[in-house]
Amino acid sequence: DENMENKVVVITGAASGIGEQLAYAYGRRGALLSLVDIRMDKLVAVADRARSLGSPDVIIIHADVSKLQDCHLFVDQTVNHFGRLDCLVNNAGIGWPSGFQDWNNDDSQFTPVTDVNFWGSVYGTLCAIPHLKTSKGRIIVISSVLAWFPLPRLSIYNASKAALISYYETLRIELGWTIGITIVTPGLIKTDLGSRVVEEEEIMGLIPMVSASELAESILKSACRGDMYLTEPSWMKVLFPLKV
Ligand code: NAD
Repeated sequence: DENMENKVVVITGAASGIGEQLAYAYGRRGALLSLVDIRMDKLVAVADRARSLGSPDVIIIHADVSKLQDCHLFVDQTVNHFGRLDCLVNNAGIGWPSGFQDWNNDDSQFTPVTDVNFWGSVYGTLCAIPHLKTSKGRIIVISSVLAWFPLPRLSIYNASKAALISYYETLRIELGWTIGITIVTPGLIKTDLGSRVVEEEEIMGLIPMVSASELAESILKSACRGDMYLTEPSWMKVLFPLKV
């Protein structure tokens, strides 16, 4: 059942790319939305569009997910406004070349990637768990196919995404499967981040790119089915060109 009426959905990193398209996918199904990002100008426009597509109520919150205080703030503001929380989509993420070749003895280039991609997801989840237990809700985690099939010059980014899989697999057990967890490992998606992470033209030519709106629809459907994993299959076709 993909009807989202009266469901409260929080999406982090909702100002652009996959998060933005998720806001529209959930908005179309009538979900109540809490959109989180550090880019407020864009977030205002995304909220307007989500309302026009069918969401009865959208709030926007400025929060940096890599800061625990900010995660408390967006979870509390959401629950204060809507009275409940049904789904947390941990989507906010950043990435740029981060292999050993890119290391210049300055960790300000590498640690933000793990701070946002790993800790940003974990902090949001820890703050939301009490509310998701009450609603028997769901967490959607945006990892990456690079967690499993790494591309070089991206070791820190790849590792931040692989750490999410390990963390959330452990959390399922710790929670005794009381909260649903869908781990999404997208391939290459047409977004700002997609083109920043994979710069090489040759690789871009090899890998089919999927639009963020197509991926958002698949994520929503997968989460509604209660899937534990959603793997965007286009990379698999490149890596394993077998006919099955
Ligand atoms: P994007 O850059 O278009 O959007 C990311 C959004 O997150 C932006 O609006 C940005 O402002 C926000 N954000 C960044 N840091 C934040 C912070 N500290 N707090 C709150 N918001 C923050 O990128 P995207 O491609 O839509 O990426 C979304 C997610 O999908 C990321 O986790 C990314 O790693 C993952 N992913 C992307 C691809 C791809 O090819 N684009 C592939 C696999 C996984």
